[in-house]
Amino acid sequence: MMRIDVVTGFPKLMHSPLSESIIKRAQAKRLVEIELHDLRDFTTDKHKTIDDTPYGGGAGMILKPEPVFACIESLQSKRQYDEGIYLSADGERLTQRLANELSLKQNLLLLCGHYKGIDERIREALITKEISIGDYVLTGGELPALVLIDAVVRLIPGVISDGESLLTDSFQSAAGGLDGPQYTRPEEFRGMKVPDVLLSGNHKEIAAWRAGQQLKRTTERRKDLLE
Ligand code: SAM
Repeated sequence: MMRIDVVTGFPKLMHSPLSESIIKRAQAKRLVEIELHDLRDFTTDKHKTIDDTPYGGGAGMILKPEPVFACIESLQSKRQYDEGIYLSADGERLTQRLANELSLKQNLLLLCGHYKGIDERIREALITKEISIGDYVLTGGELPALVLIDAVVRLIPGVISDGESLLTDSFQSAAGGLDGPQYTRPEEFRGMKVPDVLLSGNHKEIAAWRAGQQLKRTTERRKDLLE
C-alpha cells in the first residue's frame, strides 16, 4: 500500500478533499494511507511558533527550520521515503508523466510551505524533489499537495474501478493528447442531440469517431502535445 505523509502548519485546510469521493474510498480500500502532520505539534514554545522574520529584512514570514526538522526526522525514523517533496512555485512542473512516476512509489513525504516560504536549509537537508503545480503563487503548499495527491492516487491500480477510463484521459492516453467530448442521457436535451454514431452500437465506428474527436480537440487546443 502506498503511504503519503504530509507535513503542514495548516492540516485543517486539507481535511475535506481527503475525506470525499474517490480519494476517501481509496483510503477505505487500503490502497493508500494518507497522514497529516501538524508542524505546531513539533514546536517547543508556549505559542507553538512555526514562523519567524527573514534575515536581511523584507516582507513576509518564513517557516522556521526547528519544527520542520523535528517533524520530518521523526517520520524518517519510522520509514524510508522514496522522495521528500517540497511543494514550491520554483520546482519542477507537475505533469501527468511525473504523476505516473510518483504513483509507482511506496512512501512519499510532502512538505507544504506557507507565508513567504521556508528556511533554505530545510530544502538543502531534507528535500529530494521540488514540485510546482503551475506558474502562479498560492498562499501555501496545502492546495498544491492536494492536487499532487489527487493526481497520483487516482493512478494507483484499483482506485478507479474501470481502469480503462484512465487510459483514455487527457495526457494519459497512448496518443498523449486531449480527451474528446462525452455525452450521457438524455439523447436530446433542449434541442441539442447526441451524435448519431454514439447511439449506433457499432463499436468500431464509435472508437474511430472518438479517436478523430480527440485528435481534433488536441490540434485545436494543444498542438504542442502532438509534436
Ligand atoms: N516566495 C515564494 C516564491 O516567490 O516562490 C512563494 C511562497 S508562497 C506565498 C507560500 C508557499 O506556497 C510556498 O512555500 C509553497 O509551498 C506554496 N506554493 C505557492 N505557489 C505554489 C505553486 N505554484 N506550486 C507549488 N507550491 C506553491
